[in-house]
Amino acid sequence: MITNKTIIIDIDNTILCPMDKWIAWSAENSNSCDERRYLKDCVTGNVDYNFSNYFDLHEGVDGLDFFRQEDLYDDIELLPNAKHVITSLSEENTILFVSFSKSWHLKSKFSIIKRNFPWVIEGERGAFISCKHKHHVPSDIFIDDRALLCNKHPAKLKICMNTPFTQEEKLDENNVTRVDNWSEIGKLLGVEGY
Ligand SMILES: [Mg+2]
Repeated sequence: MITNKTIIIDIDNTILCPMDKWIAWSAENSNSCDERRYLKDCVTGNVDYNFSNYFDLHEGVDGLDFFRQEDLYDDIELLPNAKHVITSLSEENTILFVSFSKSWHLKSKFSIIKRNFPWVIEGERGAFISCKHKHHVPSDIFIDDRALLCNKHPAKLKICMNTPFTQEEKLDENNVTRVDNWSEIGKLLGVEGY
């Protein structure tokens, strides 16, 4: 396994996926949904990063109200193997969860990190940082699902989690390793058992 590295890890669509829950919430708070466009985008791998754009939301509802729920992540589990791989890595490396959050989103992110990785909150082997411009936070390894952020970060090893969602810009494939899941990340970083 790699050792003595600082590893930045993103939260949304990297260690967990709130999108199914966002669809259910949007359905409850809307009059209709453009299912045709959604299904077409699923097939072509161009799903709108803002799910609420597929819905005719009730008047006064902001699609991003979904993220304002303080208990948002309380019933969301991490993606398979994420907890095990990250916990193993933390034994010999420093883990920084870096994720951009408005104040109302911060509380729910804080609680899912605390529930799954209490050693981060205790400050033993890592930290939780809210930051939009992640390239200002130095690290050896950078793990994220957004091409824009992977492209900008100066880390030696960058890992991009594949998603079906639209991106602001194309991924610079020369500098990044693409993965589909945490088992691949475990293997790439030499975690025992992967
Ligand atoms: Mg993300």
